[in-house]
Amino acid sequence: MGETIAAISTPFGDGGIGLLRLSGPDSLSIASRVIQNVSRETSSHKVMHGWIYDDNIPIDEVLYYYLKEPHSYTGEDMVEISCHGNPVILQKILSLLLGAGARLAGRGEFTKKAFLNGKIDLIQAESVVDIIRARSVLLGELAVGNLSGRLSGEIGGLRAELLDLLAGIEASIDFPEDLERLSEEKLVMALSGAVDRVDVLLAGAHGGRLLRSGVRVAIIGKPNVGKSSLLNALLGEERAIVDSKPGTTRDTIEESFDVGGICATVIDSAGIRDVSDFVEGRGVERARREWQSADYVLLVLDSSAKLDDMDIRLLGCSDPERTLLVLNKQDLFSMIGENELPHGVPLVWVSARHKSGLSDLQRALYKLMMGGRPLFKETILINSRHEGCLLEAKSSLIKSLESAKMGAELDCVAIDLRAAVTTLGEISGAAVGKEVLDRIFDSFCVGK
Ligand code: GDP
Repeated sequence: MGETIAAISTPFGDGGIGLLRLSGPDSLSIASRVIQNVSRETSSHKVMHGWIYDDNIPIDEVLYYYLKEPHSYTGEDMVEISCHGNPVILQKILSLLLGAGARLAGRGEFTKKAFLNGKIDLIQAESVVDIIRARSVLLGELAVGNLSGRLSGEIGGLRAELLDLLAGIEASIDFPEDLERLSEEKLVMALSGAVDRVDVLLAGAHGGRLLRSGVRVAIIGKPNVGKSSLLNALLGEERAIVDSKPGTTRDTIEESFDVGGICATVIDSAGIRDVSDFVEGRGVERARREWQSADYVLLVLDSSAKLDDMDIRLLGCSDPERTLLVLNKQDLFSMIGENELPHGVPLVWVSARHKSGLSDLQRALYKLMMGGRPLFKETILINSRHEGCLLEAKSSLIKSLESAKMGAELDCVAIDLRAAVTTLGEISGAAVGKEVLDRIFDSFCVGK
């Protein structure tokens, strides 16, 4: 049997409560050395009350529960102790547990034990990190979907079908005379169906990236076109100074808002124009940098003024894949015709002052970010590791499919199909090396 590990599971700092965890065969006996009145007869899954003393000095009054294996998170005996959320108390109790025979847990070691003991697969283990780090409700929902086995079910189902197909091919190779040879048509259909299913899963990669890391959206435009007003309107608060005198936004301002579940950090920069003023000059330089480094750009134009050379230069730089033209001051008489604007770059009309057109802007920005990919609600969340494995599995499946289409020997079809099955197994952890495991669990915090 393995060692018993202990860790503080709540974040550092003052809090209403703090939680410590023990997992391993000696959890109960270690707890009994630290908490008064814990006995070997303590029932499982029952909240108990106790006191912790160190040399007769009371440390804290606690609640604790014992979870008898295999009915615990890790699949081992566990004890969880809930004390007051004071870092000094938590640290003191932890050192008492270590003194009583526990070993300090490594990063993600509780979840790693859960995986190694078959309580969850690797995809579910990874979803735990997503759940902890999710900063939007949507990402949280999708991560919980994976914890409950959404992606695991898809991958497991596909892998099982491919294994059946492989078994059929191998039987045809071994007993060619006994069995009816697998028809080429059936084989091609099954393999191309598998490629399509991998593609559906891969479509979730882009959404997953956007949800996890969010996007940077720069508000760019000449001074006085209404950039600060737009930022304020989008945030619903007076965050940036609005002034009728050009050049009031001297520095960049960054704030986040939610666009269909994606965290968009909007950057309002100084207007782009030629200035002699040193301070504002630096602002202009920053705006140029933001223009280049942002994921998306809201290029704001004052629709009540005719396009001038600077507008035309700015429009000339706009990349249709990451630019949304925002024609502001819609409430005034328009001096810009849509035919003067570059073809193919999406545009919206708004009035930042009157807060109109903002939901159109959000919808258009969301559409631009998604680039025609499926909507999130239908998406299965995958991470970059899953994406790498799926791409590898897809390329093996395509090779297998090509062999089948060419009527090649069944051996050739089987080799690549077997490779695809193995790669799919790596995603759920059915076949995965120590190095990959270490890399995954190193990204966890201690106590999870
Ligand atoms: P920035 O320099 O691009 O950040 O522009 P500001 O947001 O400071 O706005 C410049 C001026 O335009 C201010 O007087 C705003 O009140 C005005 N303004 C901004 N948006 C609108 C709008 O939608 N309609 C009208 N009529 N005026 C606006």
